[in-house]
Amino acid sequence: MLDLVKLKLLAGDGGNGRVSFRREKYIPKGGPDGGNGGAGGSIILVGNKHLNTLGQLSGVKELLAKNGQAGGKKKKSGAAGEDLIIEVPVGTVVWLLAERLGGQLNKFYLEREGQTTPERNRPNWILAPGEQNLQIEELVSLSLKNLNLKDLPKQKLIEISEHGQKVVLCQGGAGGRGNDAFKSAGNRIPLEAEYGEFGEQKLVLLELKLIADVGLVGFPSVGKSSFLNRVTKARSKVGAYPFTTLEAHLGVWRLGGPTSSGLRGAKEAVLADIPGLIAGASRGKGLGIEFLRHVERTRVLVYMLASDNLVQVTSEGLSLENLKDDLQQQFVQLRAELGEYEPELLKKPYLVAINKIDLLSEDLRLKIKDLEFGKTEKLRNLETKNLHATSYTIYPILISVATGEGLNELGKKVLKEISNS
Ligand code: GDP
Ligand code: MG
Repeated sequence: MLDLVKLKLLAGDGGNGRVSFRREKYIPKGGPDGGNGGAGGSIILVGNKHLNTLGQLSGVKELLAKNGQAGGKKKKSGAAGEDLIIEVPVGTVVWLLAERLGGQLNKFYLEREGQTTPERNRPNWILAPGEQNLQIEELVSLSLKNLNLKDLPKQKLIEISEHGQKVVLCQGGAGGRGNDAFKSAGNRIPLEAEYGEFGEQKLVLLELKLIADVGLVGFPSVGKSSFLNRVTKARSKVGAYPFTTLEAHLGVWRLGGPTSSGLRGAKEAVLADIPGLIAGASRGKGLGIEFLRHVERTRVLVYMLASDNLVQVTSEGLSLENLKDDLQQQFVQLRAELGEYEPELLKKPYLVAINKIDLLSEDLRLKIKDLEFGKTEKLRNLETKNLHATSYTIYPILISVATGEGLNELGKKVLKEISNS
């Protein structure tokens, strides 16, 4: 998922005012008639709840709004530059790395009509507070992979927290006035006019906030809400029927004691229990599509399977083979739904938890412990940069939300995954 983008944003400059004089048949030397420049376009962010990643900005390095046109003769104003609208998901944070101020409505003076407007210098880049031994060129060219966000000069500008929220990130420059505006009794042939204002320029990072560290993925009634209620202070609705959970519910799972700092330390995980996935969710069935949107914005997935599906259907009791097949099938179906909606979701790190083991005999538990649920690759030796991938088989963690069994083990594994990802 694309959750961080670096962009150079250039609002449009205002058009310069015009220096010109009326030329009409019987008026050999008319008065000033230079028009005003048009305003430059602004760069505007708009929150859109239908977006879930910054994917639409992938590969984009620079965005610019159009400049305003210079003023014309006969007091004609220059055309305004169009605003540039960037739609971003709700939950997007904008960090300022550096900026160049806009504004500066200065006058310029010509020696004669028709002379080109003299150039003027744009303000310098100003780096955001923080680490200052970087040059602006370095900041612009640094690739995100090499950016250590913590060490960067940066300042939080804004957070898009609502659908439809609009923020002008870079203000376009106002147009300058033409020489018509400068005529006076003492100055009947003004050879002066105004520059258009500079548009604001910013180097920013857009960061998409996660909804939660852990997304609970499972079919209805496997015990997701019960789990969230047990390990966090959240109170999700718990019911014996599908679709009891209508909205995303979040809760903080405190693991391994309180944190000293009071800040969110490494010892807790935000869990999201999201409406149950049903077959066909990726095609918009049930609440599935909403669910899938939320899943995208979690760090780690826990596929929660339940061992009681078969208990209900096979009256003669539970056979080991049936149980194994059923668990594997739940997993495969969940993955299929996720993958159909967004193949990238399948690359997210995950754990598999089998719930309701209190319903299983000791013998059955032992036998499902070594079921394999795919493989994961981990990079080793990060310190020595001597990378080699090691692959691990993913085995299930057996839990019972009812009795609390296995929850500590799951917690430890969750923490490990979060810190690795
Ligand atoms: P969700 O749809 O995945 O959120 O599932 P719920 O949390 O609503 O649970 C569905 C049903 O399973 C409820 O009746 C729970 O009491 C029951 N349940 C949840 N966890 C366990 C467990 O560990 N053991 C048993 N026996 N029942 C459980
Ligand atoms: Mg539920």
